[in-house]
Amino acid sequence: MIYLKSPSEIAKIRAASRIIGELLDALEGMIKPGISTWELDAFAESFIRERGGRPAFKGYQIPGLKPFPGTLCTSVNSGIVHGIPSREVILAEGDIIGIDVGVIKDAYYGDAARTYGVGTIHSEAARLMQATQKALEIGISAARIDARVGDISSAIGEWIHSCGYYAADDLTGHGVGRELHEEPQIPNTGRAGYGPRLKAGMTLAIEPMVNIGTNRVIEKGWEFFVADGSLSAHFEHTILITEAEAEILTKA
Ligand code: MG
Repeated sequence: MIYLKSPSEIAKIRAASRIIGELLDALEGMIKPGISTWELDAFAESFIRERGGRPAFKGYQIPGLKPFPGTLCTSVNSGIVHGIPSREVILAEGDIIGIDVGVIKDAYYGDAARTYGVGTIHSEAARLMQATQKALEIGISAARIDARVGDISSAIGEWIHSCGYYAADDLTGHGVGRELHEEPQIPNTGRAGYGPRLKAGMTLAIEPMVNIGTNRVIEKGWEFFVADGSLSAHFEHTILITEAEAEILTKA
């Protein structure tokens, strides 16, 4: 079931999403060598609660794992997604860190992610981050009314391939709004012209997860890593399908 949201529901998704955009901007100034991912997480939780939201990932449950303990997912270097914030993970010059955050406010959800460089980063890391951000932009451009989910997937996947990179296996975007994860799944590779048709009022989280060396992933509990240890980047926005261009909701 793919939900089309009413204007009042969209207003609530927009409010939750705006907190995320503001938070991801605020984190930009904090990400420096020497800070732990736990400190970033504590800041994020206060930031969200001060604005009337609640962290959507904290306490999230999937079978076989303890509830997710963080407000943020903090995935460093070869971490792809779902990294657990920790006092023992201290950022170092040249690292890259993907930060993914969900917020629930008035019972509605937003979800977004951004990858940040720590201090001065290697040119290869910068290129990966730029390519992944561009993959998200390309996916959003393809998310037009009456297009299909496969058009988004195909556009993202072809771009990633053209850069010589790989979309991480088994990790996809998704519908979002009434729940954190709704239908449809939005893979980062696929065939144009296939899949559900996009309609005004759909709210979608598009999230390319791009690896330098391989598509293959390794799961360690919650955390996903690139199988060959190469770098991974992740950018995500919650968007609204409209009669015109998609609107990005997770902006400050
Ligand atoms: Mg997501």
